[in-house]
Amino acid sequence: MKETKIYETESPEETFEIGRKYGENASPGDVFCLNGDLGVGKTVFTKGFAAGLGVKDVVNSPTFTILQSYEDGRIPLYHFDVYRIEDTSEMEEIGFDEFVYGDGVSLIEWAQLIRDILPEHYTEVKIEKDPAKGFDSRKITVIGV
Ligand code: ADP
Ligand code: MG
Repeated sequence: MKETKIYETESPEETFEIGRKYGENASPGDVFCLNGDLGVGKTVFTKGFAAGLGVKDVVNSPTFTILQSYEDGRIPLYHFDVYRIEDTSEMEEIGFDEFVYGDGVSLIEWAQLIRDILPEHYTEVKIEKDPAKGFDSRKITVIGV
């Protein structure tokens, strides 16, 4: 049975702190799949995650490059944003498997778009807006850790 954890945040800073906690506890080979609509906070979570790994470089959304890697933390971080992928063969071309099955930690924004090629084991982080609770309110569901 996969464990599920649910968080509610009211600000980007709170989402960042949850990301940081997961970054602090990440192990080599871990894969985190971030799902949720545009502007929901996937990159905010990622920035916190990177901080938790000790990454000092500025982390931005790699929307135009698919992959940005950071080597200066405790474990290498491979940050994917697959929003613009049209075919999963594009992922093979950038060597997706070598990263995902490598010794770094992979974090994949929009992972739902490449469901077919995801590894068997990963942690899903689903972020949703909660309009009933306010503009900055987010529900973060973590499945698998
Ligand atoms: P995504 O990567 O999912 O497209 P971003 O992380 O780039 O989204 O942007 C999320 C936006 O939402 C930021 O402008 C951030 O300041 C804002 N925001 C407001 N409330 C929250 C919250 N609770 N958690 C995360 N981001 C929030
Ligand atoms: Mg993003």
